[in-house]
Amino acid sequence: MTTTAVHGYPRIGPDRELKRACESYWAGRTGAADLDAAAARLRRGVWETLRGAGVTAVCSNTFSYYDHVLDHAVLFDLVPERFRPLVDAAEDRDGQLRAYFAMARGTDHLAPMEMTKWFDTNYHYLVPELSPATRPRLAGRKPLAEYTQARGLGIPTRPVLVGPLTLLLLAKPAADAPEGWRPLELLDDLLECYAHLLGQLRAAGAESVQLDEPVLATDEGRAETTALERAYTRLGGLAERPGLVVSTYFGAVGPGVLEALKRTPVEAVGLDLVSGPESVEDLARVSGLGDKTLVAGVVDGRNVWRCDVPRALAVLGSLLGLAREVEVSTSCSLLHVPIDLAAEPDLDPALRERLAFARQKVDEVVLLGTALSGGGAEAAAMAAARAPRPAPAVDARVRARLDALGEPAERAGEDRRGAAAGREPLLPTTTIGSFPQTPEVRRARADHRAGRIGDAEYTRLMRAEIDRVIALQEDIGLDVLVHGEPERNDMVQYFAERLDGFATTANGWVQSYGSRCVRPPILHGDVARPAPMTVEWTTYAQSRTAKPVKGMLTGPVTMLAWSFVRDDQPLGDTARQVALALRDEIADLERAGIRHIQVDEAALRELLPLREERRADYLAWAVGAFRLATSGVAAGTRIHTHMCYSEFGRIVGAIEALDADVTSVEAARSHMELVGDLASAGYRRGIGPGVYDIHSPRVPSVEEIEAALRTALRAVAPERLWVNPDCGLKTRSYAEVEPSLRNMVAAARRVRAEL
Ligand code: GLN
Ligand code: ZN
Repeated sequence: MTTTAVHGYPRIGPDRELKRACESYWAGRTGAADLDAAAARLRRGVWETLRGAGVTAVCSNTFSYYDHVLDHAVLFDLVPERFRPLVDAAEDRDGQLRAYFAMARGTDHLAPMEMTKWFDTNYHYLVPELSPATRPRLAGRKPLAEYTQARGLGIPTRPVLVGPLTLLLLAKPAADAPEGWRPLELLDDLLECYAHLLGQLRAAGAESVQLDEPVLATDEGRAETTALERAYTRLGGLAERPGLVVSTYFGAVGPGVLEALKRTPVEAVGLDLVSGPESVEDLARVSGLGDKTLVAGVVDGRNVWRCDVPRALAVLGSLLGLAREVEVSTSCSLLHVPIDLAAEPDLDPALRERLAFARQKVDEVVLLGTALSGGGAEAAAMAAARAPRPAPAVDARVRARLDALGEPAERAGEDRRGAAAGREPLLPTTTIGSFPQTPEVRRARADHRAGRIGDAEYTRLMRAEIDRVIALQEDIGLDVLVHGEPERNDMVQYFAERLDGFATTANGWVQSYGSRCVRPPILHGDVARPAPMTVEWTTYAQSRTAKPVKGMLTGPVTMLAWSFVRDDQPLGDTARQVALALRDEIADLERAGIRHIQVDEAALRELLPLREERRADYLAWAVGAFRLATSGVAAGTRIHTHMCYSEFGRIVGAIEALDADVTSVEAARSHMELVGDLASAGYRRGIGPGVYDIHSPRVPSVEEIEAALRTALRAVAPERLWVNPDCGLKTRSYAEVEPSLRNMVAAARRVRAEL
């Protein structure tokens, strides 16, 4: 019999129960016992689902109250020093949870641990902070407790742990760690903790344990074969231990890592054959895994498309001689996809036919396992019985337009600076787009969506909001205004709802971090713009002021990064379709008299491939798509772009190549250093370094913003410096936004007066 496994399953619950349970605990409406009970129910639901579907290796310890990396930091006592008093003072369950959530979310006095993206997904983890003084020890029993809970329900499970290499390579040196010290230096100490834990799990009855090492798909991880071999030789050498499954995902690991793993005494190696199909060749090159089991990730854990069963079976067939046994699995944890297609009765049936969410993917894994056990004949029969996934509909007009496009688009207009000269003062002040989304604004949108108010009333309410936002900006004295984005629930979903080729779901929630979930749209077909999307609101705003109003669009890369995207053509081709729709929108905005247009590419760096060798190709299509969207404008129109981060090391060249007139970026938390970094890396265009941090409720003083501007002016000429907050204001309240913007304008005027 072929065995089957699923790397992990969504933990938020079919109705986002985890979010509700956490938020009511944080608000003090419920206690620790309620939260623990809700968590136990959620775990039980997952185990019963997996077992009921017929998965042979049901995973445990994939649940988390907030984040699985934080769980491992707590488990091994890798707690940042500032939280030590809270952890030590925790006398009961409530105290423990309080300390745990303090690390995740901060307190009035303590900054939370840094949060960052989990590889190239939209899930975020908390970054452990380690130093030579860190003393790893087994300080918790979460994996054991979950294993025991499942066992009590009669479900033997395979506990899942973040592997030691991944845990250390994702950690960062604490502020007091000596220069050059690496968290990996804690490996041997940490291995003793894993050894201890594995012994406990074995004693409790666990037959196998999955150690996740996705870091092996990155350049950094691939380079650590010595540490890898040391780690798994140590753990594999334990006398009393469960079988060890070293799981890798998010890309191929390469022959070097395969060789190293082969030399260790682990029982199984997991490979992601969806994002790293070249692993099949790599396996052949190292003459297979010998007597180890290959856990073959053939069902895509990160995207929502139904598995191509014949193709997956062909891949599985090609593996048969390359390992002692093949276990069928998902490519990675199903954490990254919505839970159940059954919760989407309103999706177009033709699209539904093409989709599989977590629950459906589990069935696919089991189906493939069954087909493979049956040998050739049964597999062929099952594959044939399953209709092939229908292909997306083709929009011939979009295809023809794209085919007719020649070389990468160049912006017309020799003298752009000249054409736009003198329109704004030096150090022009502006904002990133959104203004606070007040309860009234949210209610108006919800009422309209639910049909409680009609189009006319909705338009009236939105216009009234735009009037208020414009009047406020004039009063504050900003130079380039915005309409405030009151009509947008989300910068991607808003456009997805207005473009052909996208669908949105009713319940397709995916965890982004902690209790925050997102509902990514599904980009399933050729993209086209049936009608203008933003022109009405932007031109209305412009009609209310003599100051220029900046139009606000979401760029092609960001539209892709925050959606589930069709996998039947290269991402670059899909990006060009989105770009073409945006190009038309920009032309309409221009025709309506809008002279500043911002195309947000908040996710440009996010989609950057994990491996260096893939980056140039990615950046080429990403930049090409942005230019296709924006290059149709006249010389006097200013193209802005915005990015929500400040580490540009690898992509300065690409940002320059976007050919935007102004790029606004997060900079407040990095103290303007990046202005100098960008300049010395060759960035020559306009720059709007965020002069204050909108992620904090603090109102910055005029003096500190002035100081930030002066710092920036040491690195760029005043003609290139723009003044803005570091991101949109929609999550803030007016009580913070108004004084902050007044101080920003006052600071810009003071500095301007001296130029
Ligand atoms: N224009 C968007 C806003 O202001 C940009 C948001 C973002 O970059 N994440 O909300
Ligand atoms: Zn931003």
